[in-house]
Amino acid sequence: MIHVQEVVTRDGFQMEPSFIPTEEKIRLINELSVAGFSKIEVTSFVSPRHVPQLKDAKAVLNGIEKNPNVTYVVLVPNEKGAELALQSPVDELNLVMSASATHNRANVNRSHSESLDSFSRIISMARSANVLANGTVATAFGCPFEGEISSDGILRIVDSYLSMGMNSFTLADTTGMAYPTQVEAMVREVKRRFPEIPLTLHFHNTRGLGLSNILYAIEAGADRFDAALGGIGGCPFAPGASGNVCTEDVVHMLSNMGFTTSVDLDHILSLARELPKIIGHATPGQVAKAGKRLELHPSPF
Ligand code: ZN
Repeated sequence: MIHVQEVVTRDGFQMEPSFIPTEEKIRLINELSVAGFSKIEVTSFVSPRHVPQLKDAKAVLNGIEKNPNVTYVVLVPNEKGAELALQSPVDELNLVMSASATHNRANVNRSHSESLDSFSRIISMARSANVLANGTVATAFGCPFEGEISSDGILRIVDSYLSMGMNSFTLADTTGMAYPTQVEAMVREVKRRFPEIPLTLHFHNTRGLGLSNILYAIEAGADRFDAALGGIGGCPFAPGASGNVCTEDVVHMLSNMGFTTSVDLDHILSLARELPKIIGHATPGQVAKAGKRLELHPSPF
């Protein structure tokens, strides 16, 4: 079973220039909640000044119909965000630090030790509220400011995450710099070191390598991937960033290859086809435009 985790209303929407009405977000999340995802990253409690698109985080979380089979995640950048998140019905907090010190400074204006200190305080808040914590290592496969990121650096961060009590972790290719053989080697190393801990891979398709990276990660033992409906999204604080791997393209590929996912492909294809109306522009996803590979057309003869 390959777990596909939906991030469109957080990673996808955060970059959208025009505000998507709260009711539209709630309607989409309610649809995604019954499409078979085991995890949905709903929104983020970031400063409304920095990411105005997600200023309705609280209203969205309180407005959705939660499916008991889905883990609802919110991204929190700091203790203030965590406090607000924990007043809302959430199952998991996603805490993000960049492997690159420069990108971490650009993204959250913190040093590594400042981020880690605040994470350990957030984890104890989450624990008392019975909420899980996932630690994301951003720019894990390369940084637009610092270049290559060493796997030692990644392993050290994951070590600190786990020793402070994170329940799971994510390696994120925030700016689409990962390539397949690099991913394979990194996943093997991480899996060898932390075999029991759930690992998510979060790829962006910035350089067209998203699907290939997923296949090489699976080859190395990974089974959890973030993806965004329509392939939209990106980091507002990274030059040239672009969309996440596209959910329906990922599920289409995996199901053709005989992998099981719990996601209903027809359902998400119909949602993907509605997405341009919601955001007001076309999306990079391909299967929603072309149709499934065996969706045959009437013969011209
Ligand atoms: Zn992302």
